[in-house]
Amino acid sequence: MFFKKKKPLTGKKKDIPEGLWLKCKKCGEILYKKELDNNLWVCPKCGAHFRISSKIYINLLFDNGEIEELDVDMESIDPLGFPKYKDKLKNSKAKTSLKDGVISGKAFIGGFPVAFAITDFSFMGGSMGSVVGEKIARLIRFGREQRLPVIILTSSGGGARMQEGIFSLMQMAKTSAELALLSKEGIPYINILTHPTMAGVMASFASLGDIIIAEPEALLGFTGPRVIEQTIRQKLPPGFQRSEFLLEHGMIDMVVSRKEIREVLISLLRMFNYAGFKSRAS
Ligand SMILES: [Zn+2]
Repeated sequence: MFFKKKKPLTGKKKDIPEGLWLKCKKCGEILYKKELDNNLWVCPKCGAHFRISSKIYINLLFDNGEIEELDVDMESIDPLGFPKYKDKLKNSKAKTSLKDGVISGKAFIGGFPVAFAITDFSFMGGSMGSVVGEKIARLIRFGREQRLPVIILTSSGGGARMQEGIFSLMQMAKTSAELALLSKEGIPYINILTHPTMAGVMASFASLGDIIIAEPEALLGFTGPRVIEQTIRQKLPPGFQRSEFLLEHGMIDMVVSRKEIREVLISLLRMFNYAGFKSRAS
């Protein structure tokens, strides 16, 4: 097959010919998919960041796009017998060739070893059920045992996965507790927040980094702006819950374009090294 028939990551599908072209949601430019792919899915005209898969992030972040994956075979069950959850899992697996919404493991960035996890929006909104939470918790523990800096990139608009109820909510406490132990050992933890990272994910491991980096114009928060406006019956300020707004208000440390993120991570890892942090693997 020449190209996979996939829903465009952004833009209105009906306005444009299917397959090869995409319309930028921000500036309206019609973009050639291949060109967009070569540009890391950043609009060459306005700089809008299209949502990308965990696989593309692996290629752009890590040396030679190589990883040693952990907990490869862990799969979700349906602990509450929630209606249609099994079907949703099955469809997401078929659509993404992932077993659940996160990939975790060990990789190198500029020669520095790191423990990493990347959540993937295309698997049920990157939401955190028991498997995502367990894999993240184990990854943080792996980082602590191996003395590796931990880097977690999130694309998790789904927050805690509602189909697993309280089991998914307890992952917030579990991942946060592992991070507290990591912090006690003085091992650095970096968050990279991409559009969108919300709710139970944002309210736990995604906002606990020693350094929190966000991609431009990502929607980041707990409850979405529409729900807040309906609840407080007030109009929110322009750009509310977007990366730049959060930077201005001291909630995050940096807004970094996808095209520069690898270089920024290398600088940070080098800085940790100069500051005396040595991982067991280096
Ligand atoms: Zn654009």
